Amino acid sequence: MAQVGCAFCPGTACTAEDIESTPQLCPRRVTPEALEQAERIRGGDATVKRYAEVASDVEKTGYRKWPRVQELIEFCARLQIERIGVAFCVGLREETQSLLKILEGHGLSVEAVACTVNGGCNPVGQALVLNACNTQLNVIMGLCLGHDILFTQFSDAPVTTLVVKDRVTCHNTVGPLVNRYWRNALTPST
Ligand code: SF4
Repeated sequence: MAQVGCAFCPGTACTAEDIESTPQLCPRRVTPEALEQAERIRGGDATVKRYAEVASDVEKTGYRKWPRVQELIEFCARLQIERIGVAFCVGLREETQSLLKILEGHGLSVEAVACTVNGGCNPVGQALVLNACNTQLNVIMGLCLGHDILFTQFSDAPVTTLVVKDRVTCHNTVGPLVNRYWRNALTPST
């Protein structure tokens, strides 16, 4: 089982030129076969190439101008995606209604399915319903941790997350990582 250590590496370029200054757990040292395979996919898979190009273009064009929901609209427009699925938590029904109005206002066709479809918490059901709707891209709106994993696993269409549910931070999941009080409270003392 490989171990990798990018998180505390000072390197930012990750190119052949800086390999000598990288930690022993640099993925380029410990998992070269995986990276060779990735290069073959990046170079040879037309869908991967197109998604990567569009992602770069959206990032560049909307840099510090477009909120994530606008990035989603622009991403779909550039890829000619017309049918969107939304897997939402019933706790975010109002936000989901706002999202639908925005997406449909931009000409997208949207199918939205609640987490409680058919009773209980049913992320597998959400995925299979959206699979039956032949959506081209599915959007997660605040599914619980674990349910988001199951939804992603069973979704035929690619999945992106617009809202990560965090009942404590108004869905600002990075808050406890950037706020010192929360960070200290959550970091076990050694
Ligand atoms: S790939 Fe290597 S050089 Fe790049 S951040 Fe990870 S450890 Fe550092």
